[in-house]
This record gives sequence, C-alpha cells and structure tokens, in this order.
Amino acid sequence: MIIKEEGIPCRCGNRGCFETYGSMRKLKTDLCNILDLNPDLSGERLKEILANLKDNLLVIQVIDTYLNDLVTGIINLVNLFAPEAISIGGSFGYFQEFLFEKLQRKVQEATYLANNCAPQIKLAKLGNDAGILGSVLME
Ligand SMILES: [Zn+2]
Repeated sequence: MIIKEEGIPCRCGNRGCFETYGSMRKLKTDLCNILDLNPDLSGERLKEILANLKDNLLVIQVIDTYLNDLVTGIINLVNLFAPEAISIGGSFGYFQEFLFEKLQRKVQEATYLANNCAPQIKLAKLGNDAGILGSVLME
C-alpha cells in the first residue's frame, strides 16, 4: 500500500510504501541520522538514548512524523476492512514507552470513512518474538 507518492524506495520495487514508512527500521534510521548515531547500535542502547532525550525537539519531531505515517496506513486499512482492533507486533512493542500512547491518541483522533470506527490499538502478546516462535512452530 503506497502512502506517499514519490516516497522513498521500498524493497518491493515501488516507492512510498506503508511497510517502509511504518517500519521500525525507518524510525531507527531516522533517529540515528538526526542524532548522528551508528545505525547498527542495539535496540537496548537506542532505548537508553531516547529515555534521556524525551524532551529533544528533533526526537519528538521524528517520532511524530513516524507515527503520522503509521496512522496514514492504519486509516487506509480501517477504511478498507473496518477492523475493531489492530495488533502491532515486532520491535514496536519494545519501544512502546515512546510510541504506544501517542499512536493510540493519533488513531483515536483520525478521521475515517465511517463515523466513530477508530480501532483499538493493541500490542501483540508475543511482541518481537512472534516471528522466531512462528518459525520454530513450523518445524
Ligand atoms: Zn513496497
């Protein structure tokens, strides 16, 4: 799903895809760029840095832009499928203290085709381990 015409390239060959803009990789890359950090730093180290920069305007702006892009994709999905809830997994849950409440607020404040149909936003129970547990279960 394309959310930005002429956006950044996606691994699928298109530009401006939701999966690129809504990925934690995009957020981490943007944060590392503005903070001049090594993009290979661990998630744990990035969390420590973010915890000390909660009032940093550049950090707030990057997170806000990331969440706005994520909400754009969510709005499109809600307008197509009208889900009651959307579960977000992966490393989003790992960084939930910086992202989750803001995302919930933005989703609730967004405008949808049908009135009052903002979905509940939930964190996936398995968080970042869902992929690896799923691959083990397939064996
Ligand atoms: Zn794509």
